[in-house]
Amino acid sequence: MKFIKSKKLLMLCIATFTFFGVLFDVFAINEVLMDKNCEHIYSYSWEDVATSSICQKYIATCSRCGYSYVIAYDYEHNYTDCEDSSCNDCGYTRPIPGHSYSYSWVSVSTASICQKYVATCSRCGYSYVVSYDYVHYYPSSNTQVCRDCGYVR
Ligand SMILES: [Zn+2]
Ligand SMILES: [Zn+2]
Ligand SMILES: [Zn+2]
Ligand SMILES: [Zn+2]
Repeated sequence: MKFIKSKKLLMLCIATFTFFGVLFDVFAINEVLMDKNCEHIYSYSWEDVATSSICQKYIATCSRCGYSYVIAYDYEHNYTDCEDSSCNDCGYTRPIPGHSYSYSWVSVSTASICQKYVATCSRCGYSYVVSYDYVHYYPSSNTQVCRDCGYVR
């Protein structure tokens, strides 16, 4: 009888030890997770910063302990054009600057069109035709080549 009792006690002790052992292991694991000597396993990702001067940051994050650091910053927002107010990458919104046009004549040189007057934005490259010149310029009846566009009649 006494033997059984003590065996029960022993089992209880083992159970208790196991319980605290598991607890201790849990704490030990936490200890390892918080350990600065963690052999970091990094995953990399772009994160929005969305300030006027910074678009996104490229960060390395340890999947074991959560430690992270910034590898690089992207300082350039990505707008579709001068009429676009929100960055396509980070969502930062700006006042729309609007296109800044310069104008020039460009040769078309077809039978019906001599030149076109084109407005081109110096900021984003967007352009559109303001008007067409349909009349070729031949200074004399002998001239075969248009002085404006080079079209040969
Ligand atoms: Zn780590
Ligand atoms: Zn941006
Ligand atoms: Zn523009
Ligand atoms: Zn012409």
